Amino acid sequence: MGIFKKLFGARDGSESQTGSLGDVIKQAQEMQKQFAQQTQTDWSQATTSEVMAQATANMEALTGETAAPRTSFVKKTTCHTCGAAKTLAPKTAYVYCDFCGSLTDYDFQKACEMPMQMPGPAYEALIHETNADAQLARQTSDQEAFLAIQRRLFDRWVELCPNAVSPRAKSDPEYRQQLVEYMAQTATINEFDPTYQQYAALVKQQTMQIQWTGTFPKMQCSGETFWPLYQTVKDQLAHSYGLLRSAGILDMHPDQAPESLQQRMTWSMFCQGWLPTLGPEDSQRMIEDAGLKGEYTKLEPVETTTRKCGGCGGDLQMLPGAKVIVCEGCGTRIDVAEPEVNCRNCAGAISFPVGKNRVQCPYCKAEAQRMEW
Ligand SMILES: [Zn+2]
Ligand SMILES: [Zn+2]
Ligand SMILES: [Zn+2]
Repeated sequence: MGIFKKLFGARDGSESQTGSLGDVIKQAQEMQKQFAQQTQTDWSQATTSEVMAQATANMEALTGETAAPRTSFVKKTTCHTCGAAKTLAPKTAYVYCDFCGSLTDYDFQKACEMPMQMPGPAYEALIHETNADAQLARQTSDQEAFLAIQRRLFDRWVELCPNAVSPRAKSDPEYRQQLVEYMAQTATINEFDPTYQQYAALVKQQTMQIQWTGTFPKMQCSGETFWPLYQTVKDQLAHSYGLLRSAGILDMHPDQAPESLQQRMTWSMFCQGWLPTLGPEDSQRMIEDAGLKGEYTKLEPVETTTRKCGGCGGDLQMLPGAKVIVCEGCGTRIDVAEPEVNCRNCAGAISFPVGKNRVQCPYCKAEAQRMEW
């Protein structure tokens, strides 16, 4: 019993309350309400961008408070690499296969439960510091210089907002470097494409034209003015993916995610930002149109064995037949096809990371080897 309780939580969450799209929308409205209580500022004179910036900044605290983890449901997902159905509940929005460790899906509802992270003043300072150089690179069409700046910015961003990216970025330097490269290349391609920039100008204009009803922070964005913006972002995204595809950037995704999954992850960011400002009908329409709705099934208890992560020493739940598991604590890909090895110094059990024969023991820090020589 202990293991089931640990895996699926003690919550008995009734089905009508849990795992539904309505729940995400309710949560967004709750966020607005809390916002109203916490913010005493007179926003009637503020510009749209000020309002949006403030809204995003406050979301971190609010999502943290209102989040009610839906541990008894799992998004219906089939692995595109090995064909297995997702069985164990992921802790983050990044859904990794229980059997082969591939990134198989992105769970928008889960993403909405997580506190939204803002990179803060250190990042702002770096933006400020690199601003003149970025401007010069734009003016002189120096893509290499621009790319170098983007690498610095994204590297810092990944460091400061670990919850906004895959847990694999936490302790896998190669993964992290690939992720930063993928993001920096994407930003650079978009930046130097005239059509993309035309869309960006239109997005800016349409954002300024959004009509708000009510007084901030109980403001709601009018659907009439939101949908033209949404359509532009949709066209912009489609155009951008065309560019990224032909430049080979989509193949650089550090999880080798299929294109449809990469697109959904991009959409998710846009939708998370706008969700709290939309009415229930517009919210529903946006999530469905963006392909973020998903189907959820109730978790059935399953037999698992516990393995010990060679990266952090944390518990990993292993299904029979699993080969690779991504540790959601430290992000390391663990080879569970091979049996565990005991550390020669402290005797602690260790499952080794994929492709590694030596690790620093997560418990005693002595060097541990996969094989006895
Ligand atoms: Zn798989
Ligand atoms: Zn770990
Ligand atoms: Zn040890």
